[in-house]
Amino acid sequence: MTDFLNIDSLYKSYKAIRNGPTSIPALANLSLSLQQGEFVSIFGPNGCGKTTLLNIVAGIVNPDSGEVTIDSKHPQNARVGYVVQRYPESLYPWLKAIDNIAFPLELQGIRKKDRRGITRDLLKTLDLRIPENAYPYELSGGQKQLVAIARALLYEPDILLMDEPFSALDYSTRAYMQMKIQEIWTKTGITFLFVSHEIEEAIYMADRVVVLSSIPARVLVDLEVPLTRPRKRDAVLNPVFLDVKRQILNNIPIRSGTE
Ligand code: ATP
Repeated sequence: MTDFLNIDSLYKSYKAIRNGPTSIPALANLSLSLQQGEFVSIFGPNGCGKTTLLNIVAGIVNPDSGEVTIDSKHPQNARVGYVVQRYPESLYPWLKAIDNIAFPLELQGIRKKDRRGITRDLLKTLDLRIPENAYPYELSGGQKQLVAIARALLYEPDILLMDEPFSALDYSTRAYMQMKIQEIWTKTGITFLFVSHEIEEAIYMADRVVVLSSIPARVLVDLEVPLTRPRKRDAVLNPVFLDVKRQILNNIPIRSGTE
């Protein structure tokens, strides 16, 4: 089987903004591959380079060296859906929820009536309940998240990137969204690259968990999650789950406290 997403030997540095070294290496020799339809979680500490990695996979940022291909195409020629970390800021405050979701269709020149129809079909197919006439300021955190996800899906992506999507949500909304994303993944078969710094979430959601080192990010360990689907909440108590968690914990260096 050929790899669908191939990330090969990525290096990326940023210019230091203030004093200090002239550049900050964010990614160092990072390689990773995903099969089509796989759900892979990226787990790593704050500031290790996870968003940088997603930005490169999305074709927004160029690496210093190394290569990314999606279905053998350069990211800029692939259909990449991206739910960014600060997703509430990606919604247009002057557009109703339905028109926020439909925005990619507006860019394609599709008429308002038709794009609303296509959007309603998507929401129905995926059983996403969003108050379509509400403006972003009238939506809850979970509803805003659903709008951002629906908009990314409307684009019919080959791959969906999600950057710590649930970090601002309370426990029960997060649990609902985790279930919803798994449902969407099952229905669409899209390849998912899902960033989380919650260890249990990273395992619960994925077929594989890739653990990154602190900055500059490199792959510390890449583990299968051999749990059946659909997964219920109590999957986190399953011995298979706990074994994956133990292997991850054994591979995470603990900060000394003086760093
Ligand atoms: P978090 O978990 O906090 O979201 P992250 O793992 O997603 O962080 P990145 O946002 O990729 O990490 O950042 C990695 C490093 O690169 C950080 O030290 C950050 O300060 C630096 N960095 C990121 N973007 C830029 C930029 N545009 N210019 C300069 N430095 C940057």
